[in-house]
Amino acid sequence: MEESIINVLEKNNFKFKHKLGQNFLTDKNLLNAIVSDAKINKNDNVLEIGAGAGTLTKEIANKTDGKIVSVEIDETLKPILKENLKDVKNLTLIFGDILKFSPNDVSNWFDGKKFKVVANLPYYISSPIIFYLIENNFKIESLTIMLQLELAQRLSAKPGSKEYGAISVLLDLISNVSIKRKVPKTLFTPQPKVDSAIVNIEIDFNKNNIDYFKISNFIKICFSMKRKTLINNLSQGLKIEKDIIKQVFELNNINLNCRAEDLTTNEFIKIFSLFEKMNL
Ligand code: SAM
Repeated sequence: MEESIINVLEKNNFKFKHKLGQNFLTDKNLLNAIVSDAKINKNDNVLEIGAGAGTLTKEIANKTDGKIVSVEIDETLKPILKENLKDVKNLTLIFGDILKFSPNDVSNWFDGKKFKVVANLPYYISSPIIFYLIENNFKIESLTIMLQLELAQRLSAKPGSKEYGAISVLLDLISNVSIKRKVPKTLFTPQPKVDSAIVNIEIDFNKNNIDYFKISNFIKICFSMKRKTLINNLSQGLKIEKDIIKQVFELNNINLNCRAEDLTTNEFIKIFSLFEKMNL
């Protein structure tokens, strides 16, 4: 870790808290790579979740004059952040748990304007944070986030692969997901147990002309038990007789034995629309 940052952390007697997912980054090349993957322009507003010692915040600030809001749960980082980020004028630091802020608060931080999310996320709550960000009608343009490699692979998985699940489909409905680069665990301080990856999620709620909020529960039900057939999961989750679902599938040439893990996003949309039309 860079000397000056170690000094500031030590001077403040900072103790890394494993339970808060505190694995910090200082590698300049990597920090640069993250902000370049985020394609930050001069006027972009940026939300960072988990400021840590402020190393990524600083790189974000080098790219934009727009508003940067960085949220950090750990108040013991306050003096460290004040010192490391004293020259950054367009930054608002907010202390608290990101998941406890109301969506209104978050929108108001940016005066209701659009923003990009750039973050090295705390791993213990990466998925809840992603859902919080995509399910609250924020004007988010993109998320460029560091995740555990295994979660990154699930977000970008294709049908038929073992990583494919509800979260892959839910994101594919409203965004384009790509893994930008894999990041070895050796680049973090302290080192986590697993490798990571930077994922870019370009949000486009119009991508499939479908109401995300209507279909998302249906998708979750389809994947509720991985080994079971779609008919079984739908029958249990929606409380509909198996025979009725069977008939719908037969009439529409859908394989009676198919499982959620085999279906494409378009096939999910097709089946959901059929169920909606038939008021099932
Ligand atoms: N951005 C810094 C970096 O790249 O070095 C720190 C990243 S570290 C992986 C995650 C940070 O998120 C930690 O500083 C941790 O304290 C903070 N954090 C953990 N849970 C949080 C929450 N619920 N809300 C806001 N910040 C949180």
